[in-house]
Amino acid sequence: MGNAFDQRRYLTNFDSARTGHVLTDVLVIGGGVAGARAAIEAARHTDNVILMCKRTVEDSVTRHAQGGIAGVMTDADSVESHAEDTFRVGCGLGRREIIDRVVRDGPARIAEMVDWGMRLDRSADGYALGREGGHSASRILHFEGDATGRELSRALTAKLRTLTAIRVFESCFLIDLLTVEGRCVGAVSYHPKYGHQLVWSKQTILATGGCGRLFRETTNPDIATGDGYAAAWRAGARLADMEMMQFHPTTLYVAGASRALISEAVRGEGAYLVDRHGERFMPSYHADAELAPRDVVSRAIVNRIRETRSNCVYLDVRHIGGERFAARFPRITRLCRDFQIDPARDLIPVRPAAHYMIGGVVTDGDARTNVPDLLACGEAACTGLHGANRLASNSLLEGLVFGAIAGATAGASLSSGPNARGRVSSVIPASQRTELDLPDILNSLRSLLWRNAGIERHAAHLSEAREIIDFWGQYVLDKTFDDVLGWESQNMLTVARLLVIAAAQRSHSLGVHYRSDELNASTVVSDTTDPHHWVNERDESGPVLRPMDRDWHSIVEETRNHILPKK
Ligand SMILES: Cc1cc2nc3c(=O)[nH]c(=O)nc-3n(C[C@H](O)[C@H](O)[C@H](O)COP(=O)(O)OP(=O)(O)OC[C@H]3O[C@@H](n4cnc5c(N)ncnc54)[C@H](O)[C@@H]3O)c2cc1C
Repeated sequence: MGNAFDQRRYLTNFDSARTGHVLTDVLVIGGGVAGARAAIEAARHTDNVILMCKRTVEDSVTRHAQGGIAGVMTDADSVESHAEDTFRVGCGLGRREIIDRVVRDGPARIAEMVDWGMRLDRSADGYALGREGGHSASRILHFEGDATGRELSRALTAKLRTLTAIRVFESCFLIDLLTVEGRCVGAVSYHPKYGHQLVWSKQTILATGGCGRLFRETTNPDIATGDGYAAAWRAGARLADMEMMQFHPTTLYVAGASRALISEAVRGEGAYLVDRHGERFMPSYHADAELAPRDVVSRAIVNRIRETRSNCVYLDVRHIGGERFAARFPRITRLCRDFQIDPARDLIPVRPAAHYMIGGVVTDGDARTNVPDLLACGEAACTGLHGANRLASNSLLEGLVFGAIAGATAGASLSSGPNARGRVSSVIPASQRTELDLPDILNSLRSLLWRNAGIERHAAHLSEAREIIDFWGQYVLDKTFDDVLGWESQNMLTVARLLVIAAAQRSHSLGVHYRSDELNASTVVSDTTDPHHWVNERDESGPVLRPMDRDWHSIVEETRNHILPKK
């Protein structure tokens, strides 16, 4: 039976005959690494690109990235080894052709960034390369130790602003993707000054990032509310692997403070994880100890927290030496000192938090989705690069490589004629149901997901989460809002529901998805685990999950001419 989630096509009322219009060739939604890189590439093909983002271009998750970008930059390393690490850490679920493409194209994309003014730390022999968990070689490029995302974002934004072909629409919120006869023709947006606008585009690139804010404990800033996944879902796009939320093992745990990330590179420099009794515990969980893959470290920490009846474990960096640590990690050192923790003398309290959405809008090797003229890249997309677990520092790399691919595909697909336009409207009947307090719902949702769909999952808890989300949905998805909080709340509930449904469907543990109710937990793909990517697709009765056991490209192609769900 359908419910409020499945019946909504648009979140807002509008009529194209009475709403302001903007026309463009390529609309890029998102100004993080993926969106900015896509816009720059698209601008090689046309002088009419719009980049829209919900705050400023600088305000992205990209800006918060610390550890670095993975890339093979020396002869001592090889793309084969980087590809193998990516596939192995992804537990065999990654797509080989995509992995090969990203690691092969990566060094050229990074070199291009350096040409555009990006600064990277150097040593006497060339780039200073760090090592992170899951990598078999030192291949992590960084800037000022732990400010890589900020520098990447700065360089991309500076480049973007030199290109007159790109108009940047800041504070412009994507409410929904606009479709006419199943084809994406742009977006319905909201700007505090201009109100609702229809941005008609020939090609639309979704680069709206992830959804870490669904969880109470998260490293993500508050823009990461999953708007792009929800808008794509309503427009008929397929999403895959939505159960695959990666949890970062080490975020600073100071009650009441936000969960700031303590980069994996800290463990790469030799930090130990110890419990409240000062006992180092990772060697008993994995041969790579603190440098084991993230899912292994996160679960080990949760386990140790439970065993020691504590709220956190600790990073011990004292043996690294105060000066060396401060020079390598200046921002983390400052952050610790803000809370009166001196890394040279004190243990750093940490615990895991939701970090990165591996799933997303299914794309092929050209960044196309199943909705004609809609492309996706970055964390918003699911290319299959990460498999069931993302290798550290591969996300910025994917954003650069697939941002460029998306921009090139959009540019190459431009027709010379006018923008496709048609009469589009959305009329949503007024709801008689009572109003709920949205901040309260969101707090409860985030706690619910952390508790019931977090690092350890169980069928009964997932089913309870779905019931509660469906209940809230009746009161939130039935309304029309006229502000960002309202639309974000509707999007977060929509994405939370997709995540919980997908997590319930995958009954075996794999990578970041751990089922505590599974008898023989396995961490690699085998006959007994589930080798599929699970695709959420929407039919008239609601979300349907099916295994994507056929060629990924044909899955995207097959539904290009899909019939949109009824309004
Ligand atoms: C603390 C932290 C540290 C990290 N460190 C690393 C690292 O060292 N290396 C690494 O590879 N990865 C790292 N990651 C992951 C990586 O930073 C992200 O996956 C990556 O930056 C995502 O880039 P993106 O372009 O896809 O999205 P984002 O950078 O999140 O950008 C999303 C854009 O979409 C816009 N947007 C979203 N919704 C809307 C809407 N409704 N309307 C209009 N615009 C919208 C936003 O305004 C923003 O401009 C880290 C993540 C975090 C949180």
